[in-house]
This record gives sequence, structure tokens and C-alpha cells, in this order.
Amino acid sequence: MVEKRVVDLRSDTVTKPSPEMLQAMVEAEVGDDVLGDDPTVIALQEKVAKLLGTEAALFVPSGSMGNQAAIRAQTQPGDEIIAHADSHIYHYEGGAPFAISGCSISMMQGKGGIFDADQVRSAVRPVESHFAQSRLVVIENTHNRGGGSIWPIERIQDIRKVADEFGLSMHLDGARLMNASVAAGIKPSKYAELFDTVSVCFSKGLGAPVGSAVAGTTEMIRRVHRFRKMFGGGMRQSGILAAAAVYALDHNIDGLAQDHANAKRLAEALSEMPGFDIDLAAVETNIVYFDAAESVGSAAEVCACLHDKDVWMMAIGPKRVRAVTHRDVDTEGIDRAIEVLQTFGAR
Ligand SMILES: *Cc1c(COP(=O)(O)O)cnc(C)c1O
Repeated sequence: MVEKRVVDLRSDTVTKPSPEMLQAMVEAEVGDDVLGDDPTVIALQEKVAKLLGTEAALFVPSGSMGNQAAIRAQTQPGDEIIAHADSHIYHYEGGAPFAISGCSISMMQGKGGIFDADQVRSAVRPVESHFAQSRLVVIENTHNRGGGSIWPIERIQDIRKVADEFGLSMHLDGARLMNASVAAGIKPSKYAELFDTVSVCFSKGLGAPVGSAVAGTTEMIRRVHRFRKMFGGGMRQSGILAAAAVYALDHNIDGLAQDHANAKRLAEALSEMPGFDIDLAAVETNIVYFDAAESVGSAAEVCACLHDKDVWMMAIGPKRVRAVTHRDVDTEGIDRAIEVLQTFGAR
């Protein structure tokens, strides 16, 4: 049987565990992590804390749970979060900051999901009975809806100063922090030291099937741990999953550079095609956004045609298409996607 080779660029979450990763999972030593004695989970948490230069870290089932447990641990109902209007915590986590933490969000604007210290300063509310209490700044790096954009570290440093001035905490949604780190050549701990809490995902470009982590001080992680339990995120022999994450951290970080090169390759090809419009400079990591011209149809129509030819992308607006490169699509796969995209101009 010839296996149908699909080029699946809908997301980097579609990556499947490699045979070597599966082997590591099968061989994992496990215990009951809710009772605190799964050695592989403990090893993963220590590894993440070391990587991010924090005192502690906690394994969680998903990035959303990591973000929301961190938000819950640092806010009270009636508090306000300062975050970008395009942020994942607002758009893609089921309204959780409002529902679970009872917080409003002051929405920042800015290209690529990036805002600045002056905007934060203007958003901080006076301490007075009329107002929600500004409490937490959330930054997303790389920024998903911003097109995989990388936060300049100086921006974050400036925002940290304003946060300190007003006694605000800072959370980093670092689902793709390793992409930012590899592309910018900045150690993850250099970013992490500017935050009170940091979440990272193993199930995106790093290729693990499940899991994220939250890092911070021992005291903070104790609080996050309590909310993880409250949210139903305590897992038992989760060392099987943690083993995949350990494997990913040991073997799959450097490979992100190839994903970035593949994204550039796809973006450059698109920039030459008359049927599509792309901001080439905005492609900094593994996410490619482009717009379909009137002549080739809507984003949904384009994606349907691509799908018929075994190239999968995601329509995320009337004209906008998203393609995300990852370790399960090699350069040859990217070239196949380019070939299929080129047929649109010829219609
Ligand atoms: C994927 C992602 C998350 C977490 O998503 P889950 O599906 O809950 O693991 C969080 N933030 C960003 C920016 C993401 O892209």
C-alpha cells in the first residue's frame, strides 16, 4: 500500500511522536504524580526550571491550562489583565480569564501582537473604587495571531520597568518561546527572567504529543499547582507524557531553525505569486500568513482546493490563510505545497 503523503501545515500541533520519542515514552519510569512521586515528571520539571532559570516548574496537560492556572494564581476577581487584543489567552482559551479568574482584559493594540511600555502605562488604572485593579501583564512570544512574531527583548525590559513601578505581575505565554529563542539567538532564560510566570508548550514545534509547563518561583508554582488540581489537571502516571517532553527538549530544539527556513522558503515563493499577497518581513519564525486575491477566491475556497491536492492549510479570515511549518513537513513537502499553490495563478 502506498501511503498518501499529506503536507499538513494547519498547525505545528499536528506533529506526531517519532519512533525514538515513542521508545522513550515506553521506557519511562513512572509513579503517581498527584502523590508527587513520578520520577520522570519530576525530572522534566527540573529540566524546565533549569532551562528557564527559575526555581520551579510544573507539568500541565495543555498550554491553555498553564496560562489560565498562572493567571488565576496571580489575580483576584475584579482585577484587570493587560494583554494584546490578538492574544491567545483572549481569543483561543474559551473566555477563561473572564470565566475562571473573573478578570477583565485591557486590550493593547500593535502590529504583530506587540505593544510597548507607554501603552501599558496608559492602561494602568488608578487605585480608586470606580476601577478594576490592574494586576497582570501578559505577553505572548512568539505571537501566534501576530504571525509568529518575536518580541524585541528591549520592549519587554521596558514593560517590566513599568510593571515594577505599578506593582504588576508579568506572565509570558511562551507556547513558542523556543522558536523565539532559536530565531533571535537569545537564551530562553534571558526572556524568562523578566517574568513572574512563564508557560511553554511541548506539543507544538517540539513534537511531543501532549503537555506544557509553567515556571516561576517555588512559592508561585505552589499556587499554580493548587489551581492545576482545581481545574482537573492532576495526572497520575504522567511520566509517560513527561518522557516525550524530556525527549523533545533534548533533541528537538535545534530543529526549529529548519522550520523557520522552511517558512521563509514558502513565504518567498508566495511573494512571487500574483494570486497571493504576503508581508514577507513579517515571517520571522514558523508561521506564515497570506491573503488570497479576489481572482483566486476566498481563503476557505483556496484551502478546500489545496486540501483536494493533499496540502492542508487553515482559513483564518475571509481572505487570510495560515500555514505553520514543523518537523513533520520537510523541505520537499514545502516544495510540493509551493507547486500546488502555483496552480492558482494559472487558473
Ligand atoms: C497553542 C498555544 C497555547 C496553548 O494551547 P493548548 O492547545 O491549550 O495547548 C497557548 N498560547 C499560544 C500562543 C499558543 O499558540
